Amino acid sequence: MKNASFKKHVRRFASVALAGQMLLLTLSGCSLKGFNKNIDTTGGKPWICSDLQENLTPDLVLSPVDDFHLYVNYDWASKAIIPEGYSDYGVHTMVYEETVKKATAILTDDSLEGHDIELVQSFYNNYLDWETRNALGVTPAQERFDDIVSINSIEEYSKFICDPKRNSMVPDLVFFSNDVDFSNSDSYATWLNFGGFYLGDAAEYKKRTEQGDRYYEGLLSLNNAMLGRFGYSEDDAKKMFDEVIKFEGKVADSSLTSADYMGTDIVDKINNVYTLEEVEKLAPNLPIKELAENYGYDEASQIIVAEPKQLERLNDLYTEENLEALKGYLLVRYLRVMSRWLDNEALEANLSAANIIFGSEGRQSDEQLAFGFVREYLTTPMDKAYVEYYDCSETKERITKLCENIIDSYREVISGEDWLSEETRKTAIEKLDSIKINAVYPDKWEDYSDLDFTGLSLVESVEAMEDFYLALDAKNTNGLVDKDLWTVDILEANAYYAPTENSINIILGLLGDPFYYEGISDEELYGGIGMVIGHEVCHAFDTNGAQFDKDGNYEFWWTDDDYKAFTSRAEKLIKYYDKIEVWKGQSVIGKNVQTEAIADMGGMKAVLNIAADIDGFDYDKFFTAYSISWREIESRESVYNILTQDPHPLCYLRVNSVVQQFQEFYDTYGVKEGDGMYLAPEDRVAVW
Ligand SMILES: [Zn+2]
Repeated sequence: MKNASFKKHVRRFASVALAGQMLLLTLSGCSLKGFNKNIDTTGGKPWICSDLQENLTPDLVLSPVDDFHLYVNYDWASKAIIPEGYSDYGVHTMVYEETVKKATAILTDDSLEGHDIELVQSFYNNYLDWETRNALGVTPAQERFDDIVSINSIEEYSKFICDPKRNSMVPDLVFFSNDVDFSNSDSYATWLNFGGFYLGDAAEYKKRTEQGDRYYEGLLSLNNAMLGRFGYSEDDAKKMFDEVIKFEGKVADSSLTSADYMGTDIVDKINNVYTLEEVEKLAPNLPIKELAENYGYDEASQIIVAEPKQLERLNDLYTEENLEALKGYLLVRYLRVMSRWLDNEALEANLSAANIIFGSEGRQSDEQLAFGFVREYLTTPMDKAYVEYYDCSETKERITKLCENIIDSYREVISGEDWLSEETRKTAIEKLDSIKINAVYPDKWEDYSDLDFTGLSLVESVEAMEDFYLALDAKNTNGLVDKDLWTVDILEANAYYAPTENSINIILGLLGDPFYYEGISDEELYGGIGMVIGHEVCHAFDTNGAQFDKDGNYEFWWTDDDYKAFTSRAEKLIKYYDKIEVWKGQSVIGKNVQTEAIADMGGMKAVLNIAADIDGFDYDKFFTAYSISWREIESRESVYNILTQDPHPLCYLRVNSVVQQFQEFYDTYGVKEGDGMYLAPEDRVAVW
């Protein structure tokens, strides 16, 4: 579903910590100001936004020719309930819940043995040991908190951020990390990054939206609750928070926004290669050399600075005058991280903040949360334990074969694209044939034998993991990428294309009902996991993926004329989405969703190409299965987040906008001019 993000150049541990925050959903019926309360979400064109349950009124007329997604999913969606602690609910969550059940059986089985099992069970049990956690209160955070507070010069600040021991678990202001080199995908490149924006997007500091308001409100409430535990008055806590936001605003002026990161020119923008000496000259106030030395990146032959202007700006702001804001930057983030690992009061503050941000209510159970953290922090040991416990070798074989069939179908699709020259077509097919199929689970795993939790508390275990991941990352400096080690968590209900590997990742966590199950019919198979595979393969040829070659290098392989034809097809698709209104006055941003929309439509074309060869293929069953795979209801906040921050179209559009591009759909349901699902042949926009 998601292609590998270009924004993932965050130290692995930090990215885990940040993403994890998104899972935390809350307690306490928060009395926030009711996001979007006054917005009328009716009046969508050409279809209502049926991801919002409030729009599913009893008077709606259901017809496959007018609103196919609604027709298939109305009964389910009008009755579904978003569970406590979630901001959406649909088949992906259902599939994930099955995984949670099966994983919990492993986490609670005392008879199991082995190092990976020990790691995941120890962390899980420590997390659930509320007696110890509540008895300790905020004590485990006191020493580090005091250490940051006592910093009284910019030199001392530099010493602190350059000391991996002292700032363990404190999110970084700037940091190095290794990731695949865009220009040579066999090797690692070392990146230097800024620690990020608390409101999630630099754009929020330029022009605050409702989403920024929610982040502000949620994080402020968490900040005040946590600082209150360390003796701060509400006024003083808010003052610190506002100072941090103001400081970040100054950095945001010189930073790329989330929309920039969704752009198709993003690699050109961020692939800025320097030597370490050049970076030191670029930001002489920042302790670049010490950071590199102390964290193990000083031998890096090249440093990629994603945002040089941002780094220069940060350098200008790295002064005695801004010391309190710089300290605040570390403190508010440190307490946010620690709110996960301290006592119940801290966790509830964290969960309440998440509810404000994501529009969820209630909270997930402790066991659900504990498993979520195990998955995030100990991805490999958990995945490995799962695969050893449940034999999935047969599934791996079947899914691999299915991927191969779909790639074969693409070969026919690409061969039939008459707008491509022979030359580009040949290179495209070479790229297609080079796609690496990562199906279900990997055969090789990262070695975790150096990580040991014996005798450690919960917080000490998290510290041990930070050390472990830092060392793991630093050892890749100037090294080669081991492509047999997958970078994804196979228990996630998701799938990926990785442009720098040219790999599709069709992972275990998504292989549940309705996507895939024992005894599934052909139609449901292709409408479910088949469409997912088709989607991921097409990412190799979307407006981002098309800029990488068969080996995953950022390398142009098109003729100029063909690329022009390709981008003009994409332009037409963008314009089509721009015209869709989710509710009156709120349009889809075509530019943001182009890559995902291209992939959905390309996937559909490849799968329909296979269907054409299957005797008696039941198209109604197929389209229905596809529509079911996108049944989902969302909170208003979630819908708004997707609209503004996510490259994926909303679920109802992933069905309606896709199927209306294909004649097979018209023929199956008898769609005619004037129907809601009708699009004139000349207005259809599938790029492939
Ligand atoms: Zn995708």
